[in-house]
Amino acid sequence: MKIEPVIGLEIHVQLKTKSKMFCSCENISEDRPPNTAVCPVCTGHPGTLPVANAEAINLGVRAGLAINCTIPDRAKFDRKNYFYPDLPKGYQISQFDEPVAIKGWLDIEVPSAKAHERKTAHIGITRLHLEEDAAKLSHSTDGKASYVDYNRGGTPLAEIVTDPDFASPAEARVFLQELQRIMRAVGASDADMEKGMMRCDANISMREIVEKPEGERLAMQLNPKTEVKNINSIRNVERALEFEIKRQTAVWEETHAPVAETTTRGWDDAKGITVDQRSKEAAHDYRYFPEPDLPGLDLVAIREAQTKLVPELPQAMRARFIDEYGFNREDATIMTDDAALADYVEEIMSEMRVWLHDNGEIEGTDDEKWEANKAKIAKLVSGWLLSKLGGLLIEKKLSWSDAKTKITAENFGDFLALIYASKMNSAAAQIVLAEMLATAKEPEAILEEKNLGQQSSADDLKPAVEGVLNQYVDQVLQYKAGKVQIIKFLVGAVMKATNGKANPQVAEEMLKEMMK
Ligand code: ZN
Ligand code: MN
Repeated sequence: MKIEPVIGLEIHVQLKTKSKMFCSCENISEDRPPNTAVCPVCTGHPGTLPVANAEAINLGVRAGLAINCTIPDRAKFDRKNYFYPDLPKGYQISQFDEPVAIKGWLDIEVPSAKAHERKTAHIGITRLHLEEDAAKLSHSTDGKASYVDYNRGGTPLAEIVTDPDFASPAEARVFLQELQRIMRAVGASDADMEKGMMRCDANISMREIVEKPEGERLAMQLNPKTEVKNINSIRNVERALEFEIKRQTAVWEETHAPVAETTTRGWDDAKGITVDQRSKEAAHDYRYFPEPDLPGLDLVAIREAQTKLVPELPQAMRARFIDEYGFNREDATIMTDDAALADYVEEIMSEMRVWLHDNGEIEGTDDEKWEANKAKIAKLVSGWLLSKLGGLLIEKKLSWSDAKTKITAENFGDFLALIYASKMNSAAAQIVLAEMLATAKEPEAILEEKNLGQQSSADDLKPAVEGVLNQYVDQVLQYKAGKVQIIKFLVGAVMKATNGKANPQVAEEMLKEMMK
């Protein structure tokens, strides 16, 4: 008998609005003294009334569109009733049967070492609904006191629920990475899991697969699921699911049956295990009913307006960086994961197009020039921008936005053009790049100022080459006698004589010519 995991995710995303979901308090729970961003509405005082935040609705609809959801004509809010100290009203305003977005999907690319694993996974999205966050509880280490900070209470959340479509923990990880990129791209959230801006609960159960001899696979019924809560990073979602697969497989092997009832478990990061939390409480009755203090939402006009505001999404941008600019998948992913860097790359590539257009030495129409040179340009950009400048930024603790204020796309384009045209060698280019970042000067100015320009003309190099031939008579004789590899020594001597400024290819050609 073969058993396989069935995985679904529930993700809460904090929406990036100025104010809270149903009141005008500032939406900043971080970096504020406890209980200073609160008002009678979000602390549940009797007689107060909620007013829905229009921007939160806009962002929820935009995020829903970005994950291919249908936006219904209307939606409404409902009360989800439960009692807990982090919930001052005794209920959470959420959405039950008429959420702002339904029936979406996301196709994810799954990096896979094993041949039988799928390469793309189609993940259905059940719904995206809006709700308010609960307050934050903290407990003293001696266990004698608990504290409530209502700053977070009432901040806007989008909850995204997927279909149980994940076949492995790795698929769940890749989905969350993509969802995080999408939330950032549409401006819905910074979606930083470590800061609690994106929180994930994972549902997992095991089910029996019957493999018929003729190759047909029959998936048997779904079994009670285990919900793993409080997972604080994408990597830990994967780890928690891997742990659950092992645990639930062991239960099945021991009892010859799946885990018998729906349970909730927590992720213990330090131990790397899940622990049972409250299996007795699993059968919640939230007594949902429509929120009487809020009118229904007419989404027709909002849907139309938000459809126009969905930007190019990360998957499409990555594909374009690969097709149009010629980057490899890995570089394209790094470049498009940082909005400032992605913009920078686009500006630089456009500078390179202009440079090719203006360059009379390269033949063809603009498109022909681009197609013939883009592979070389992409290699230069990934090497000098990602590796070299990226390295300098890490060293100096700077961001890509910082880099752009020092090195304009135009100056970076000029810098690449100098390398392309062999006007400076790689050692000189490193010095120039560091100087550009430090001083914001133009590359040509630095090259001249520091006297670093590469000598590629025969006229420039002739004195040095002649000097070397005169100085190393023995080596010249050995070369002429057939020991051709000694040319490297002679090229090195020319480099030394020119303080590293000689173009080594030109120097080698000249040496060979003059020793004929
Ligand atoms: Zn408030
Ligand atoms: Mn929720």
